[in-house]
Amino acid sequence: MAKKTVADIDVQGKKVLMRCDFNVPLDDDCNITSDDRIVKVLPTIKNILEAGGALILMSHLGRPKGRRNEKMSLAPVAKRLSELLGRQVVFADDCIGSETKAKARALKSGGCMLLENLRFHKEETIKDKAAKEDMQLRQAKDNFAKQLADLADIYVDDAFGTAHRDNASMYTVPTVMEGKPRVIGFLVEKELKFLGKTLSKPDRPFVAILGGAKVSDKIGVIENLLDKVDRILIGGAMAYTFFKAEGRTVGKSLCEDDFLDKATELLEQAKDIGCEMTLPVDTVIAREFKAGADKKVVSGDIEADWQGMDIGPQTRKLFAEKLAGTKTVVWNGPMGVFELPPFDEGTKAVALAVAEATDKGARSIIGGGDSASAVEKLGLEDKISHISTGGGASLEFLEGKKFKCLEILDEKDTD
Ligand code: AMP
Repeated sequence: MAKKTVADIDVQGKKVLMRCDFNVPLDDDCNITSDDRIVKVLPTIKNILEAGGALILMSHLGRPKGRRNEKMSLAPVAKRLSELLGRQVVFADDCIGSETKAKARALKSGGCMLLENLRFHKEETIKDKAAKEDMQLRQAKDNFAKQLADLADIYVDDAFGTAHRDNASMYTVPTVMEGKPRVIGFLVEKELKFLGKTLSKPDRPFVAILGGAKVSDKIGVIENLLDKVDRILIGGAMAYTFFKAEGRTVGKSLCEDDFLDKATELLEQAKDIGCEMTLPVDTVIAREFKAGADKKVVSGDIEADWQGMDIGPQTRKLFAEKLAGTKTVVWNGPMGVFELPPFDEGTKAVALAVAEATDKGARSIIGGGDSASAVEKLGLEDKISHISTGGGASLEFLEGKKFKCLEILDEKDTD
């Protein structure tokens, strides 16, 4: 069932508390190096302000571990937001407390305010499991959430990047606000539409490309996708665990020996279900883990002292062939150590192949993180149907997990 959005409720004259993901990259002087995460929630912010809501924004930034840390202040975000909106954004020095409460109370219809980093308070990240087992932790988390909830009449979640977390601002605050309108913003709506529709009603052929460092991180995704996709292409270091499970040597490549049985099981499961699982047919290897290291391409065993760094040229060709003519593509994780050129070539080749498939009519989704930055580096963002704003969240979505912080929000009326 679809969730209510800010467009479904009346915010006129109401205080609206909205959780955003303003976890923007900062340089050493605390200048924002990409305002993408701010720009992406502007449609929701503008909608609320134009409809006469008094908007109180909250977010985390970095990992300050429950302590005040000026290097992770959201003050630069308030400044940038105010430039983007062309109006003043009030900044509250703390996300809770009497001064913040007074500022929120004074906020007029159409006014906008940003609270300081939620994670300056350790209560924000207390896990629900820990809170269940320890009454003191539960009270601390509830009390923190209640102070945030008391600031407003309406709760809005437009932070897809943190949708998989049970942070106080994501789950406890809307829980406390039961009975008041609790809705999603347009960014979360877009993410849910794209990811949800793709998994539930994919046009076929449907191909998943999985890469990155560890098989163990992607087991849930592979298991959930096996009976949904027609084909899975495996790249990145996770391929070496599959290689070793098949009896090949992998030299000093990253490999998870504890997951060899699991890798064999997944290959067998895929065969039983009729899902084609394609491993690399050649690998770029190097002796040293550094940019520009001497390299060669092998198609079988990887010798001792050498390590796999990227998918080889034959694999790039093969993956491009497997992507041609597909109708749905989901990609998560780089094909190699793309941070160290020239070991970024496999990831680049796959990015180009996904863009080309999209050009020919495929719906393509990139699950944030490294694959998204590879696509952005190549300037191919516009050639992809959807780049998710949540790396971890989109991965959990692909695992078929439910997000409890979204589940408790209001459903759209059925009539
Ligand atoms: P993940 O967060 O699991 O998507 O993994 C991303 C990381 O995997 C990146 O930092 C890549 O450098 C790394 N990675 C991809 N391929 C390899 C490889 N062949 N050897 C070591 N690391 C790799």
